[in-house]
Amino acid sequence: MAGKKMKGKKISKAEAAKLDKNKMGPCQVDPPEAEVEGQELQRRLAECPYCSRTSWIVYDTVNYLWYTCCYCGGRFRA
Ligand SMILES: [Zn+2]
Repeated sequence: MAGKKMKGKKISKAEAAKLDKNKMGPCQVDPPEAEVEGQELQRRLAECPYCSRTSWIVYDTVNYLWYTCCYCGGRFRA
């Protein structure tokens, strides 16, 4: 289900150096297509804190701790 729009939080350079690449969440420009039954993911519109453009992320606080903006490549937390 597409939820409400949220605003990403910037990640400092010091923090970015310690980010786990396996914890990077998917981010896409286009709205997600209908989910396959049983694989429903929490999709949210996130606003990049650097360029202020919005993209779709899979919001999951356990598996995904940070995202990379589709537009500017900026790293942010949801
Ligand atoms: Zn951006």
